[in-house]
Amino acid sequence: MTSWTPGRLDVFARGADSGLWHQWHDNGWSGWQPLGGVLSSAPAAATSGPGRLHVFARGADSGLWHQGFDGTAWSGWESLGGALTSAPAAASSGSGRLHVFARGLDSALWHRSFDGTAWSGWESLGGALTSAPAVASWGPGRLDVFAAGLDSALWHRSFDGASWSGWEGLGGALTSAPAVASWGLGRLDVFAAGLDSALWHRTFEGGWGGWESLGGLLTSGPAAASWGRDRIDVFATGTDSALWHRWWVAAPAPEPTPPAAMPTVRVHAKILTAPDVAVTDAIARMREVYATVGIAVELASTERLDLPTLNDVDVGDCIRGQTTAEQGELFAHRSGAGPNDVVVYFVRSTVPPYNGCATFPAGRPGAVVARGATQWTLGHEVGHVLGLGHVGSRDSLMTGGGTSNITNPPPDLSPGEGQTMLSSPFSQEV
Ligand SMILES: [Zn+2]
Repeated sequence: MTSWTPGRLDVFARGADSGLWHQWHDNGWSGWQPLGGVLSSAPAAATSGPGRLHVFARGADSGLWHQGFDGTAWSGWESLGGALTSAPAAASSGSGRLHVFARGLDSALWHRSFDGTAWSGWESLGGALTSAPAVASWGPGRLDVFAAGLDSALWHRSFDGASWSGWEGLGGALTSAPAVASWGLGRLDVFAAGLDSALWHRTFEGGWGGWESLGGLLTSGPAAASWGRDRIDVFATGTDSALWHRWWVAAPAPEPTPPAAMPTVRVHAKILTAPDVAVTDAIARMREVYATVGIAVELASTERLDLPTLNDVDVGDCIRGQTTAEQGELFAHRSGAGPNDVVVYFVRSTVPPYNGCATFPAGRPGAVVARGATQWTLGHEVGHVLGLGHVGSRDSLMTGGGTSNITNPPPDLSPGEGQTMLSSPFSQEV
């Protein structure tokens, strides 16, 4: 079984007539097609590029036989010699390069390769195999070969493009030849039937995982292929002699959990005169204090306003619910602000002179802040907009004694003040 593109699988099997049969998946299954020959083992398939297929099997003469598909037509069977005592295994380690493995008369692993032009001779890779080998390549030049050993455990040998590793025991108790697939660099998935006839699976990715049972009742060794990252298809014969198919796809990555919505005051800065404490600094101080009661502060926009007649704005007595004509005129400038956004007008001064004033016309939440205001004035005035009154403590943001006289910065907001602010329509879920 092999795959040369996502969604494509080519499955080969020896039929009841000992001939080779082929079925492929490409937006659906094709049905079985005969490819002739007389096989004395299960076939092995590899792809050497898009649309290019190679199938190998042991023939009636115990030799290795090969048939290729070039994207248009099948080549017919060719003999590659040797004396096999198992089904072959095949993989491509790069464009045009093919590797075939099988157990020889001496039970050792034997290897023959095709470099794109010509076949090498047979080479022994040693070992004492009690099953057919399985092979996969996770990248150019790389080969990983597996087989059951005399102890029925899984054994592994790899080629890194330059040299072969020694044999490595990977445990388990195999009752079939292994199968292996790779979906990407450094990843291997090995399958085999266990003593319970179930399908067992082991994964390599930076290190070997343990054996896990995937259930089922197999009457043949499994075959495995991957058509792309996080996808593996495994086939095996069941007790009904039919071909069974199981595939694995990675669970979709969980949706990132959005941070819990935090009540947010959206502030729009309208600047008639740039304040001594920069708007972004005042916003940062405000954030620091508001965070203590679980409220975020967003500087939603900044706009310069050229309104010289309102630059020393008449705020009257600055009593909540009472606004002057000039405040009415100034607070009409709300471009970009939603109905519950707070607009702060940075002016040269108020008349009479205050650091700021938080009275606003109905439906136009906002405040004015004078040029000479302190770093805490913005938070203080917006606190008024959110419904807070003055308190006596000089440690409090809402001190009635002037924010320039705050004694223990950063100033405090009490839990009760926090509740008032959170119940204001101007601390919004955004
Ligand atoms: Zn105040």
